[in-house]
Amino acid sequence: MKIDLNIQPLESWIQTGKEPLLIAGPCSAETEDQLVATAHLLAKTGKVTALRAGIWKPRTRPGEFEGIGSIGLKWLNRAKEETGLPTTVEVATAKHVEEALAAGVDILWVGARSTANPFTVQEIADALKGVDIPVMVKNPVNPDLTLWIGALERINNAGITKLAAIHRGFSSYEKSAFRNEPMWDLAINLKTHAPGLPIICDPSHISGNRDLIPYISQKALDMDMQGLMIESHIDPSVAWTDAKQQVTPAALAELIANLTLRKPETRNAEINDKLADLRNNIDKIDDLVIQKMAERMQIVEQIGTYKRDNNITILQVNRWDEILHKRTSYAKALKLSTEFTEKLLELIHSESIRKQTEIMNKSQVVATEKLTHA
Ligand code: PEP
Ligand code: MN
Repeated sequence: MKIDLNIQPLESWIQTGKEPLLIAGPCSAETEDQLVATAHLLAKTGKVTALRAGIWKPRTRPGEFEGIGSIGLKWLNRAKEETGLPTTVEVATAKHVEEALAAGVDILWVGARSTANPFTVQEIADALKGVDIPVMVKNPVNPDLTLWIGALERINNAGITKLAAIHRGFSSYEKSAFRNEPMWDLAINLKTHAPGLPIICDPSHISGNRDLIPYISQKALDMDMQGLMIESHIDPSVAWTDAKQQVTPAALAELIANLTLRKPETRNAEINDKLADLRNNIDKIDDLVIQKMAERMQIVEQIGTYKRDNNITILQVNRWDEILHKRTSYAKALKLSTEFTEKLLELIHSESIRKQTEIMNKSQVVATEKLTHA
């Protein structure tokens, strides 16, 4: 899938000199004091580029704190005046967009629940027509890359060129250490489809727990994401929303200071030569793996034909168990993880079954054709 987004570089709408780019602030604006005091402490760290705060909060159940509403926009403006930090809020309706624009909010973001609904995204996009404001689009709650891309396209089609994606993880039925599964492949896939699109990681909503935030932040930087959005509250223990995942501004500064910044490339010739050598070896091995796979599939085809001609079922569970068992112990001896080997074998096995099914079905078509021509 190729996606064509008309976007301006990140530097054109947000200060990128600080490493890493950091958007921070409370999950929710609760009181004027809480927001302004948090903003001051964040600004003092010297590590924060923009101030975030939820004004309208999407809550799973009614009766929970649903955001302070429009009055919070005034508090955000005061925080901006006093600290110089540009502001960003979540918008989920056309009315939110109008109010945020009228209040002079600098950057808007579309939340995960909104991205999952094309009607909502379109309503937001329509309200943004003719406006020049940066918009960040969070991934949808469910792991659906196309839905994420669709939302980015809708906003971009409305004429918004200052665009970024936010990776905040995906909801999953399975129990996990994370509040939202990171599913890094999806974010990497988005990067591959839209290379110029900046992706900012939101380790707070992935983690759901402040202890995991450093790990996810480091991983995001190692995946070459362009920045982080982290929830920070002056006193997380009394936060009205997402208390477990918020960190104090001081803890945030420490967390950022402990991250290792790695570059996607270097100008050091010696390092580049060594890397080129290693990559060369990888290329050769990959070619060999593919060649061997093709050879394996040719044998699978012969087996398929043989099974068809002798009326033997495609799948023999015992044989599959034996393969799985033998190969995983061999792989383990060679220091490959069992999880990896099992995944790899399952992939190869399902392709083998697909090929054999094709052969069996072909025979049926041929047999039916023979019948109809008889
Ligand atoms: C938030 O950023 O506070 C928020 C509600 O996030 P998400 O849309 O990712 O759940
Ligand atoms: Mn939150």
